Amino acid sequence: MSMYEIINKKKRGSSLSNEDIHFAVSGYVRGEVPDYQMSALLMAVYFMGMDAEETAALTMEMVNSGETVDLSRIKGVTVDKHSTGGVGDKTTLIVAPIVAACGLPVAKMSGRGLGHTGGTLDKLESIPGFRIDFTGDEMFSIVESVGLCVAGQSANLAPADKKLYALRDVTATVDSIPLIAASIMSKKIAAGADCILLDVKTGSGAFMKSLEDSEKLARAMVDIGNNLGRKTAALITDMSAPLGWAIGNGLEVKEVVGILRGERNLLSDDLIEISLNLAANMLALAGQGSVEECYIKARAVLADGKALEKFRKMVAAQSGDVSFTEDLEMFQRAPFTMEILSAESGYISEMDAESIGMAAMYLRAGRTKPEDRIDYSAGITLCAKSGDYVESGKPLAVLHSSDEGLFDGAKARFAEAVRISNAAPDERMLIRGLIS
Ligand code: URA
Repeated sequence: MSMYEIINKKKRGSSLSNEDIHFAVSGYVRGEVPDYQMSALLMAVYFMGMDAEETAALTMEMVNSGETVDLSRIKGVTVDKHSTGGVGDKTTLIVAPIVAACGLPVAKMSGRGLGHTGGTLDKLESIPGFRIDFTGDEMFSIVESVGLCVAGQSANLAPADKKLYALRDVTATVDSIPLIAASIMSKKIAAGADCILLDVKTGSGAFMKSLEDSEKLARAMVDIGNNLGRKTAALITDMSAPLGWAIGNGLEVKEVVGILRGERNLLSDDLIEISLNLAANMLALAGQGSVEECYIKARAVLADGKALEKFRKMVAAQSGDVSFTEDLEMFQRAPFTMEILSAESGYISEMDAESIGMAAMYLRAGRTKPEDRIDYSAGITLCAKSGDYVESGKPLAVLHSSDEGLFDGAKARFAEAVRISNAAPDERMLIRGLIS
């Protein structure tokens, strides 16, 4: 067997065997397969695709390249969730406490922001003192005592994925559905939960812009999970506009705490509706009843403060300042703010999530390079959302920053995102599908 033969086989559209995939990936991790041959194989996969067995074999090869987390010490069925990334997507911070308050242990490994999309760890670190780096034993003891821990991923989880992702990034092979599916699922499988719920975003702010591609990605990931013995399902959710009203780390956590404290109407909010659907599907995957029954349970613990209590205990157990969950005024305010006013009257027919994410990143709520420092107080709060009627001269949003000089650039990006029209747009469909 040689890399030349494996590349040639894929180039001609044949399926690779488990042995071929093992040879290529383990050889690449050991440094025996050079970048140029792995690049050629990735490009062949990009054009010829992979079937469900090949994608599962690639995932397992990446899982086996590093540590795996054994959650069997935790009593009960463990559930995990993964979002493919969005703008204003703070659902984990609402869903995880809801699921934990319904009695299921949640040991969640999260990531940092990527491009215009935010990351849960960055958001949580806007609470002073909040720790995300734990040993396995520390994480278990927090899950045992609180029922919930959100931590950073161990550096040695699926190291083959890290090396392959870096190569994909520079060889224009990131946007291949089997490669994305194997990459995401390798980390989820290695993280050890029995059940995995995937939130596959679709629309302008998502990795996958079209519903068709989002469905294909969801199907590929669900097949991998189920082929590898994990109960896996995917909800496809709308990311054509930002979720909720805040974009930016501290601003988003403040929004979450407000929701958990019951300060928002549960019935008319995209963020709450998507969060309740995700929580209901996680609970249902773990055998807690039908999705409809689980939705009712999820809404009950959100309404009666039990989810807030779980969130508070998690913040305390992870050394964060709990006073931030008691008083929203504790959150650091950006020294400068600027309102963006509507230039005309009409309905907001479009609020492009990607451009708004870029505007927030420009204000330093996100990173353009991995080593960039985040400004936790920076971001955007929306004053109106898609479908709302706005009067000319009334505010559309407020920009928050520690540097006034960034406002003009952010305002230009925000302006590109918003369209006003005379007719009210069709209502946004928040849940676009379920793949199970
Ligand atoms: N996120 C991942 O973890 N991997 C990909 O390939 C794309 C997004």
